[in-house]
Amino acid sequence: MSVAAAIQIDQRVKSFVTKPRKMLVGGEWVEAASGKTFATFNPASGEVLAQVAEGEKEDVDRAVKAARNAFESGPWRRMTTSERGRLIWKLADLIEAHLEEFAQLETLDNGKPVVIARVADVPLAVDLFRYMAGWATKIEGNTIPISVPYTPGAQYLAYTLREPVGVVAQIIPWNFPLLMAAWKLGPALAAGCTVVLKPAEQTPLSALRLGELICEAGFPQGVINIVPGYGESAGAALAAHPGVDKVAFTGSTEVGKLVLAAAAGNLKKVSLELGGKSPNLVLKDADLEVVIPGAANAIFFNHGQCCCAGSRLYVEKEIFDEVVEGVAAQAKKIKVGPGLDPTTEMGPLVSNEQQQRVLGYLEAGFAEGAKAVVGGHRAGEAGYFVEPTVLVDTSQNMKVMQEEIFGPVVCAVPFQELDEVIQAANDNIYGLAAAVWTRDISKAHRIARELRAGSVWINCFNIFDAALPFGGYKQSGWGREMGHDALELYTEVKAVCARL
Ligand code: ADP
Repeated sequence: MSVAAAIQIDQRVKSFVTKPRKMLVGGEWVEAASGKTFATFNPASGEVLAQVAEGEKEDVDRAVKAARNAFESGPWRRMTTSERGRLIWKLADLIEAHLEEFAQLETLDNGKPVVIARVADVPLAVDLFRYMAGWATKIEGNTIPISVPYTPGAQYLAYTLREPVGVVAQIIPWNFPLLMAAWKLGPALAAGCTVVLKPAEQTPLSALRLGELICEAGFPQGVINIVPGYGESAGAALAAHPGVDKVAFTGSTEVGKLVLAAAAGNLKKVSLELGGKSPNLVLKDADLEVVIPGAANAIFFNHGQCCCAGSRLYVEKEIFDEVVEGVAAQAKKIKVGPGLDPTTEMGPLVSNEQQQRVLGYLEAGFAEGAKAVVGGHRAGEAGYFVEPTVLVDTSQNMKVMQEEIFGPVVCAVPFQELDEVIQAANDNIYGLAAAVWTRDISKAHRIARELRAGSVWINCFNIFDAALPFGGYKQSGWGREMGHDALELYTEVKAVCARL
């Protein structure tokens, strides 16, 4: 691991991380009721990066109350949909104007390469807000002809209204901190909800900077409240809060089940975007010049810290060696280093805990007989780096093949029969994404129908767009984010029926 020149840190980023950051409640920046703060770390060095107010139950109570007031009686409710759309668009413009600042904050807090945050995380967040700004004026009901057999001769006018679900709690993860905030906030705001957002404790900074821009854009007080804090305290309090109408969660399947249980108390609406173990199928007629970098990107993008990461690479037997060698050569070439170095292609994992978790999976894999063609260890002395790793000699029942590693580790497996590989691909508790690489386009579409996953990519991977729904089958979640499907998560349908 070598370190070239790091980029110059933006002056605004420097001053943002030097002051303890407060939480946004009812349009005011306030300290935690307890006065406590917690540290967020720079994963490239393991050093403390900033101090952040530690939200707990009492802070959650205050934030939910502010969101309730804003929903019931604030100007938000009376705003036209066009005004709402304009505000969301304005927020997108502001994020874009601060693109470099956001990219640097993401890199410092999460570890990802700044060159990636500049072209992926931040522009995708901008795009999402713009896409959802357009929806604010297009959320419609229907007029419905009804017959009502027991009132012969009567005439009715029946129609539906699509109304905001109310106060929404949104709990987000650390892998794409700003983008996950955008995925959550965009549709909720377009629908007219009010929100309490809890960023992950590992990466609260970009959401807090976003909060400043939310105030600058002119959203009414209390429409968006941001409460940083730990999952077991702030997160759990939000999921259980009786004043919350809906909870939207992205994170591990394990915690998703806790959120669901906590939400049962007042039967909140629940949407969940959870884990994955995505199969990536390579057929022997595929264009290997596209497949090899594509399969490497499928697992190594964002250091494998993507819930949809292509972590099970099934390759037709005749081309297995060539593909594995190719992906391993790509892995070897990846420049691992601090995200602020503009030549870095892969940064550290987000935390010490995550590094230990991934190394633990590697050990478990080796103990069960897996071999690393490349990688297999931590990288560097300081920081939370792990080598990009390609494992072979893995079998379907091994832990590394069944469980989500959430790191730069792919298991490559040869296959002979299409039916068998489809069965193997579906033999997992998750169903978030899958991919198939082939030149036979009919076969590709047939396989796409067979794969039990919320997203199927053909001859590509990790293609995201604000207009394309994303979410999981099976234990990968409930509901779809992005696209117009996301609006269903944040609206209730009211049937109105008038006798004429
Ligand atoms: P990971 O294991 O990858 O860190 P988690 O699922 O633990 O992912 O975290 C995702 C989000 O869920 C974070 O914002 C975290 O604080 C929050 N969280 C963790 N535990 C709970 C919980 N018991 N209730 C509600 N939210 C939680």
